[in-house]
Amino acid sequence: MNKKMSLTTKIFIGLIVGLIIGLILNQMGPSDFRDKFLVNGLFTLVGNVFLNSINMVVVPLVFVSIANGAASITDIRKLGRVGSKTILFYLVTTAVAITIAMVLSIVVKPGLGLDMSSLVKTEPTIAAAKPLVEVITDMIPKNPVAAMANGVMLQIIVFALLIGVGLATLGEKVKSIVNIFEQLNELMMKMVGMVMILAPYGVLCLIAKTFTGLGFDAMVPLLKYMICVLVALALHAGITYSGLLVIFTKLNPITFFKKFAPAMGVAFSTASSNATLPVTLETVEENLGVNKSIASFTIPLGATINMDGTAIMQGAATIFISQLYGIELGMGALLTVILTATLASIGTAGVPGVGLIMLSMVLQAVGLPVEGIALIIGIDRILDMSRTAINITGDAICTIIVAKSEGEFDEKVYNSAVVEKSIA
Ligand code: ASP
Repeated sequence: MNKKMSLTTKIFIGLIVGLIIGLILNQMGPSDFRDKFLVNGLFTLVGNVFLNSINMVVVPLVFVSIANGAASITDIRKLGRVGSKTILFYLVTTAVAITIAMVLSIVVKPGLGLDMSSLVKTEPTIAAAKPLVEVITDMIPKNPVAAMANGVMLQIIVFALLIGVGLATLGEKVKSIVNIFEQLNELMMKMVGMVMILAPYGVLCLIAKTFTGLGFDAMVPLLKYMICVLVALALHAGITYSGLLVIFTKLNPITFFKKFAPAMGVAFSTASSNATLPVTLETVEENLGVNKSIASFTIPLGATINMDGTAIMQGAATIFISQLYGIELGMGALLTVILTATLASIGTAGVPGVGLIMLSMVLQAVGLPVEGIALIIGIDRILDMSRTAINITGDAICTIIVAKSEGEFDEKVYNSAVVEKSIA
């Protein structure tokens, strides 16, 4: 925890230092030292080593974590009805979340007015709008190895999901393979940790490079992007979650937010759904009146596969980056973003920063330059904290709705005064 906090501080310092260096170099004007040695030399070297390292872990990470996540779904079959309701709720709310974020970003246009295509050599292309039939057939890999070699994310996800379902169905017979996947998952998380050691330096160089080229102009779009994400998170909580709660349970959403706030606070400060899990569970059971039998199943599952806040960031970031590079996304591409980000949320681990790594997969799925992440990674921590609070809120709302429909909910506890003692 301490180590993570210090990495966060380092990334933040990297961002500020990079920003200052970039702005100074921008004011200094062109010189061999600036352009050849720093921008195209040192900054490009360190920045690209960092970007390549992120890319390196994406394919194995997605494959292993999705297969592993799906393999652990054996319990859902047992729980039958509860399982399908929960998963349906998680998937639908995630898709709604991305849609809100994308619509907001398309309307606000945070990325307009800043021309990144001049900085990075990417051909400004129009991502072709594929017909829906093709979008769906293209999800099935003819050759899974080729899909992995070429980083075709949707195909990798489908393959991984099928492997996971197969493992779950075979159960005991393939226990050792399931164990291997669990261990590989640990290994991948370790590798993410190793790559993140580079993050402060990578961020410093990438931000310095960006701001040398763009000067103060780059700051306004970045702020607009942040506001887009934060507003979309607020809308999702205030409209989608509150609306669902009222429609399905007739409970008062204000009571919910009052009593769930401590858990949101922990999620905000740790930026980790996993780390918040014990507090989420306790709050939902003790403060909100959900029976243990439901909460102990839906909350851990949600912390693993339900990431609406992360999906909001991915939706907004994808539109933002497409605007920065002047690449238009057609209807087919937007649909692909919804699909990929929804599925990516299954594979996003509930730990800090993984959502941003998964973003590179969403970008690749619609042919956007992964370099765009460079601009947003510096400010991502504050968004990570905010989206994690929403991630766990989605788990809690779903849990209450499912519990109420199953008669496993105590409305008296929900409406009672807040129990202060429950959060240590
Ligand atoms: N930090 C998020 C969580 O734990 C995941 C992410 O978006 O990076 O829920």
